[in-house]
Amino acid sequence: MLKAVKYRLYPNKEQEALFLRYFAACRYVYNIALEVKIYAYRAHGVTVSEYDLVKQLQEAKKENEWLKEFAAQTLNYEMTCLDLAYKAFFKTKKGFPKFKSRYDKQSCTFLQNSFVPDDQHIDLPKVGLVKGSIHRRLEGVVKRITVSRSASGKFYASAIVEMEESKHQLPGTGKAVGVDMGVRNLVTIHDSVSQDKVDLAGIIKSGKSEGMKRRLEHIQALIRRVQRHLSRKTEHRKRDKKERSKRQEKCRIRLARLKEKESFIRANLLHEISCGLTNQYDTICIEDLAVKNMSRTAKGTVEEPGKNVKAKQGLNRVIVNSGLAMLRTQIEYKAAQKGRKVVVVSRWEPSSKNCSHCGVKNTTLGSKTKWTCNNCGESHDRDGNAAKNILAAGMAASDVLTEYTRGAERKTRNKKSGGRVSKEASTPENYPTNKERKSRTKRIVAPQGVTDG
Ligand SMILES: [Zn+2]
Repeated sequence: MLKAVKYRLYPNKEQEALFLRYFAACRYVYNIALEVKIYAYRAHGVTVSEYDLVKQLQEAKKENEWLKEFAAQTLNYEMTCLDLAYKAFFKTKKGFPKFKSRYDKQSCTFLQNSFVPDDQHIDLPKVGLVKGSIHRRLEGVVKRITVSRSASGKFYASAIVEMEESKHQLPGTGKAVGVDMGVRNLVTIHDSVSQDKVDLAGIIKSGKSEGMKRRLEHIQALIRRVQRHLSRKTEHRKRDKKERSKRQEKCRIRLARLKEKESFIRANLLHEISCGLTNQYDTICIEDLAVKNMSRTAKGTVEEPGKNVKAKQGLNRVIVNSGLAMLRTQIEYKAAQKGRKVVVVSRWEPSSKNCSHCGVKNTTLGSKTKWTCNNCGESHDRDGNAAKNILAAGMAASDVLTEYTRGAERKTRNKKSGGRVSKEASTPENYPTNKERKSRTKRIVAPQGVTDG
């Protein structure tokens, strides 16, 4: 299993200059290779392979002496990156590889002979020992280390490590949990043992989530302000095609720092939640929110304009902000590391509208947070009820083992209804029976691959 760990680097002046030269060289060979590929295809209709590009790079080094300063593997790796970018383009049919700009995020990758020798340094070929804060020692074989510079000018090293899978498996707890992820409350969970709605604070250190939320809101307000400042400084310069000014640059860095801070706080909150869940529970049932669909633009098309555009736009922003997709990814990879099971409940389950006590669907809920069942009179908390339903559906589904991959489900879903719930399925009469529902709810084996944290 591959795992990624990111460290902050503190290069000295010389090393910093060297890294900048590395970035420039990588950008240079990448852009030229992209140009070669585009030209070869347009003029002669041929595709230049990664192998050919590497060979051409060796030739180019004879004319460009300055390229010899850099580790050969690092430059060659750019050809691999370009190849991957092309493959991704052909797979998804969008996002043709772009030329790299010096104004974008900068990075270069070291492959052979890169180590993390002690708690204070990273050893890179042709660069030497670079100071860094090694908050976590690496267990396993280092595959590659990517050095990058963030928009605010900080240096980071991201190490990809091949590690044994069984190392972090935890003993079973015999507990399962239903997780409702939403916009109003980021996470509401329902415990299988205590049969109770558990507060978020029960998962992460108490009081921390509220404090984080407040800090996040504060920083978001600051970001909006600095963004206004920056656009005021940028607008006329862009129009008159002037160089970037010093004030503008200062403002840009300030904004970049704030954005970095924001993303750290958010990532920290999500890591605490996913870590707490995977530590405490054997089986974690989550809802397939199809975040991508929910965050799709609400405006619709000219023929079919969307309804409640303004309200939905607000909702979209919050969904993207709260990073539900990131949380799901984290839960999945941490579960795989710790030997836990993740059950993804189909999003066709009307989990928030069904009464968890008698199972009758209540259609007149609207957007109420507390409601009483029309059938049995049980009073419910909206998210807590949903979490309970997700747990029940997940436990029922975990008996039915089906081969499942996220990609495969997405494909069939797109074919059938363009990714949306069809009208027939959402009316109560045609709603799937329990048996059908079971077959729709499939068990997911968390994907293996590159993870971070
Ligand atoms: Zn009821």
